[in-house]
Amino acid sequence: MNQYLKIDQWKIIEEGFNPDNNRASESIFSLGNGKMGQRANFEEEYTGDTLKGNYIGGIYYPDKTKVGWWKNGYPEYYAKVLNAPNWIGIKIEIDGTSLDLAKCEVVEFKRVLNMKEGYLKRKFSAILPGKKNVKVETIRFLSLTHNEIGAIKYEITPLNFSGNFKITMDLDADVYNEDANYDEKFWLEKEKFSNSETRAFNIAKTKKIGFIVGLGMDFRVFRNNEQVKPLSQEITKDKYIAKSFNLKGNKKEKITLYKYSSTASSLNYQENEIKEALDKELNKATSIGFEKLLQEQAEAWKKKWEDSDIIIKGDAAAQQGIRFNIFMLNQTYTGDEKLNIGPKGFTGEKYGGSTYWDTEAYCLPFYLRTSPKNIAKNLLLYRYRHLEKAIENAQRLGFDKGAALYPMVTMNGEESHNEWEITFEEIHRNGAIAYAIFNYIRYTGDERYLHDYGLEVLISISRFWKQRVNFSEPKQQYVMLGVTGPNEYENNVHNNWYTIMIASWTMEYTMYAIDKVKREDPEKYKKITEKLNFNDITETNAWREIVENLYYPYDSKRKIYLQQEGYLDKEQQTVDDLLPSERPINQHWSWDKILRSCFIKQADVLQGLYFFEDRYKEETIKRNYDFYEARTVHESSLSPCVHSILAAKLGYEKKAYSLYLRTARLDLDDYNNEVAEGCHVTSMAGTYMSIVEGFGGMRIYEGKLHFNPFIPDKWDLYSFIVEFRERQIKVEVDKEKTTIYHQSGENLSVFLYGKEHQLNENEKITDKIKHS
Ligand code: BGC
Repeated sequence: MNQYLKIDQWKIIEEGFNPDNNRASESIFSLGNGKMGQRANFEEEYTGDTLKGNYIGGIYYPDKTKVGWWKNGYPEYYAKVLNAPNWIGIKIEIDGTSLDLAKCEVVEFKRVLNMKEGYLKRKFSAILPGKKNVKVETIRFLSLTHNEIGAIKYEITPLNFSGNFKITMDLDADVYNEDANYDEKFWLEKEKFSNSETRAFNIAKTKKIGFIVGLGMDFRVFRNNEQVKPLSQEITKDKYIAKSFNLKGNKKEKITLYKYSSTASSLNYQENEIKEALDKELNKATSIGFEKLLQEQAEAWKKKWEDSDIIIKGDAAAQQGIRFNIFMLNQTYTGDEKLNIGPKGFTGEKYGGSTYWDTEAYCLPFYLRTSPKNIAKNLLLYRYRHLEKAIENAQRLGFDKGAALYPMVTMNGEESHNEWEITFEEIHRNGAIAYAIFNYIRYTGDERYLHDYGLEVLISISRFWKQRVNFSEPKQQYVMLGVTGPNEYENNVHNNWYTIMIASWTMEYTMYAIDKVKREDPEKYKKITEKLNFNDITETNAWREIVENLYYPYDSKRKIYLQQEGYLDKEQQTVDDLLPSERPINQHWSWDKILRSCFIKQADVLQGLYFFEDRYKEETIKRNYDFYEARTVHESSLSPCVHSILAAKLGYEKKAYSLYLRTARLDLDDYNNEVAEGCHVTSMAGTYMSIVEGFGGMRIYEGKLHFNPFIPDKWDLYSFIVEFRERQIKVEVDKEKTTIYHQSGENLSVFLYGKEHQLNENEKITDKIKHS
């Protein structure tokens, strides 16, 4: 744990400069606008410890996989989100000395992430050699409204001297990824040029694939609030272009620099259109101007908050925590159909910035509730477009007849994980992709999705499951061998309950979907069967036979599902038996010891009971929860939220709250001592769900909304807003009562504490708070 940030309801605040926290702060204060993002690196030179990071969604590098012993089926490469060409540089030299916070005395320092209005602010005062004291204030943002534009206001005042300021505005494509497998740089220079005194461009190309990313910059200079037009000199180096100028800095007179940037890539433009696009965006940025752009940014964020805010009264730390989570999710994904959500979003290199099952299992519900339905739909379509690749992926591993195995880690539909046993064997991800289709339709009522896209994906996944099980002679049942469940602290296990269960559910749901589409749209159905060469009688007969005869490991003494066959052979201990000094076990124990222990990294059986809770009796969920939660070390950020939601359902309110706390401030308080690598963006959606589904008890049953809220002791009030089928509903819970407001849209029926109510627009219902 590391708690150095100030509590504030709308801001993240760091006061005082501690270089040891710099990487952590760079992650936490990251900016993003759905299309691109960047860590909170300093604009000026910084020779201290830093992880430079500027990322453009969808721009990746297929870095050749590094493994000890190559085996057939290994992916060729590990996809990495690229540290992309950087536009933030504003280098300051004062009378020949570089302003570098690692080398001067920092007397005052404050970094603020303004979540309400979507910008990063920094203020410091530093003393350079000769006791020259300068004060700096910066504001930076990535525009939500114009998502190829970024802007910086950099104000510098010499407090006790007059001197010469050499200012260099740069565009730097000579950047690298710290996680490069072979220490190689991934960018090649393509073109750099300037077309005016203040404008420059730098276009680079990735060594493999040949993605092109272009940056443009323009700037304005003011002294004492009056514009000055210093003559600038162009500086060029390999993959680098800058404009540099000298300016007399008069004592106590503020120099203000505005730097505007445009970013365009081959993901959205033809190669020959990039320059024009960069120039056009710069024209736009400079004509709108910094202050107006910033005002637009505040308005765009206001709208985001109107649709997704959660208000908590009585606990400022919890309020800050949840807003940080919501802010990060809204910065990471805004609905671009080509993009997805990496576990670290735009905040670091870890996990390659690629798409994991996190999107379907954790993130989708957040976007379903807080955005128009096409945003969540685009997340599903992303996988639909990758179906061919998923089929090829399965073929490469020996499956046939159109069976699809979606990758565990991907940028373009191809598998690109870097660890065979752990990530590759997690074939359960195929189930989460099927579940997301069900979850989306259940929530939105968009039944056409099955006809238009969903069914193809479901048939192809079910074909995989059919081939992935085999009939066991001794058991006289179907078994599933050699998988890794969500719990990555067990590899290559037989009969993982969760994977079997989600496989079986997928086949059942696919059969339901087949019947439905066949009935409702026979022509479309025929087209799908032809496209997929699908024989519904023989194939569904085979699925049915499997579904009815699958082996599920079960302990009849404890009446619990077994995580996998043989789980109880392990020495049974609970997390309470662990010494604090041994935790997290992944930082203190050998991998061998972890694999042999009964400790569980994250929800596994419980993940299944969470997804399909209405198929199980509450007492069954309780028995399994009591058994597995006690053995779970929550060393994946995805873990506490699922447990918190289940605990809330079971009436374990205190436990639900303590698990919630662990997820809500995971990065702000750096629980796992790893925020320096980036924030846990995908699990932030789970945090949101811990309130909405957990404390708020929100469920959809048969197309209707249900709420069953309680309020944590420490809170005086909380409220959340959900979009549901073109309506906006607000739920407010205080110590005495729950109120549901119908804010906009047609009337609907809502269940509160099990009782059905009809609600028209602008009406509300209230009921006494429930206590378990
Ligand atoms: C978790 C996986 C997850 C991945 C990316 C791992 O630590 O165990 O379930 O997909 O992180 O978030």
